[in-house]
Amino acid sequence: MVKTVNCPQCDKAVPWRDEQAWKPFCSERCKLIDLGDWASESHRIAGDPVLPPENNSNEFH
Ligand SMILES: [Zn+2]
Repeated sequence: MVKTVNCPQCDKAVPWRDEQAWKPFCSERCKLIDLGDWASESHRIAGDPVLPPENNSNEFH
């Protein structure tokens, strides 16, 4: 019995084996795509801080 996981990128069933070099991803391509998404996401958050709209709330009252 081989344990399987779902590829975080494409949701394909991946056998959890030592020879599955890209686990938990199904392939190198999916791993690189996921790392790219993570990197761009962190850059977007770091460059776009969310601040509370204090001025707007004061005018509302
Ligand atoms: Zn995949």
